[in-house]
Amino acid sequence: MACALADVGVASTVLEQAPLAAIAEPQEDGREIALTHRGMGVLQQLGAWQDLPPEVISPLKAAQVFNGQDARFLGFTPEGQGTDRLGSLVPNHWLRQVAYQGARRRPDLIQLRCGVKVRGLSLAVQGGRAAQVELDDGERLQAPLVIAADSRFSATRRLAGIGADMLDFGRSVILCRIRHEKPHHHTALECFHHGHTMAWLPLQEQLSSLVLTIAADQAQTLLAASEDEFQSWVQTHSQGQLGRLELAGPRHHYPLVATYAKRFTARRFALIGDAAVGMHPVTAHGYNFGLYGVQTLAAELAAARRHRADVDLGDAVALERFERLHRRATRTIYLGTNAVVKLFTDDRPLARVLRQGVLHGAAQLPPLKLMISQQLTGRGPSLWCQLRATLP
Ligand SMILES: Cc1cc2nc3c(=O)[nH]c(=O)nc-3n(C[C@H](O)[C@H](O)[C@H](O)COP(=O)(O)OP(=O)(O)OC[C@H]3O[C@@H](n4cnc5c(N)ncnc54)[C@H](O)[C@@H]3O)c2cc1C
Repeated sequence: MACALADVGVASTVLEQAPLAAIAEPQEDGREIALTHRGMGVLQQLGAWQDLPPEVISPLKAAQVFNGQDARFLGFTPEGQGTDRLGSLVPNHWLRQVAYQGARRRPDLIQLRCGVKVRGLSLAVQGGRAAQVELDDGERLQAPLVIAADSRFSATRRLAGIGADMLDFGRSVILCRIRHEKPHHHTALECFHHGHTMAWLPLQEQLSSLVLTIAADQAQTLLAASEDEFQSWVQTHSQGQLGRLELAGPRHHYPLVATYAKRFTARRFALIGDAAVGMHPVTAHGYNFGLYGVQTLAAELAAARRHRADVDLGDAVALERFERLHRRATRTIYLGTNAVVKLFTDDRPLARVLRQGVLHGAAQLPPLKLMISQQLTGRGPSLWCQLRATLP
């Protein structure tokens, strides 16, 4: 966000509670981020994409969705979209690394302050002409606009008096890299088994990232298991799709909670990233939504400035426009993702039949498949626009 603002001439101070080392040299965290075409475009605009070493970018050429033991699948390809891939996979720590490099490249307009925690917020100081944040050492900083990007559990969002819808799936996700015998053909596999979900994200040759979604208590057992026990559990439950498997890295885990802020803006305040929309990872949209939010908010603030050079950015209609556009870009996919997750993790007999029906129904409807593919790749109009176009 700071880089996007700098590129339209707006100076900012970034306040990050983690120490500088954690930002300058981020450690591998298990997350492989599937970037949509629009997401990649935003990174290119910021110059961050160009900073990524080519070998850390893995093409995602197709995706297949399986239900239970059924060998049939619902397949997605980029066919008809003028591209050879659905998107690209990039390790999360590399995205954080290039974001840091981008900030360092714009020293005149970005001040980076690490190891400082925001603990207080007031949205109307100086008679309403500025907002103020208070750091945990008592220091106070004032600015026309505060943008919060402090995670899906955003404390700053709460301090701004903005609530959020939260959906705790009661599940955890375990991530780890796995080497396998059979080639992956750059195809992601999403397997909704009964009791757990396994997604395989294709990385380098015969190397994939396993994303295992499982009840939180079972996740604890699997995390406590030895490497051999874990590997043999995965081998048994993978149904031989990728042949013989071998653990190729540490296990990481995350709780699964989706959040959606009641509002994205207030006077002198905006939310972006997970603080605005915290997605379940199954449709791989969280980070992409973060990038879309950055692009939209920066563009609206830039337009407001073009209109009037001395515009008060914290009081601009630009914030209202951002609110509307970002909600439109995210709301339907957020609700759709949660509905898919609920249905495909419901193992009751009726839900299993419905799951099968949904997959087969979608497979028989090429326009629906294309619409879903376009949403996954970020190449089509927003789902909201597509649905509206189908209404009488
Ligand atoms: C398993 C998994 C897989 C995923 N896969 C994908 C995918 O394939 N595609 C995709 O698009 N997305 C994916 N995501 C989502 C993506 O990782 C997140 O959307 C993204 O990382 C959120 O970034 P953020 O900067 O908004 O929040 P965060 O990464 O949570 O960063 C918040 C920052 O705020 C700081 N902070 C918090 N509180 C304070 C405070 N009071 N003061 C100062 N600093 C503070 C924190 O230290 C942290 O650095 C996945 C997520 C998970 C868990």
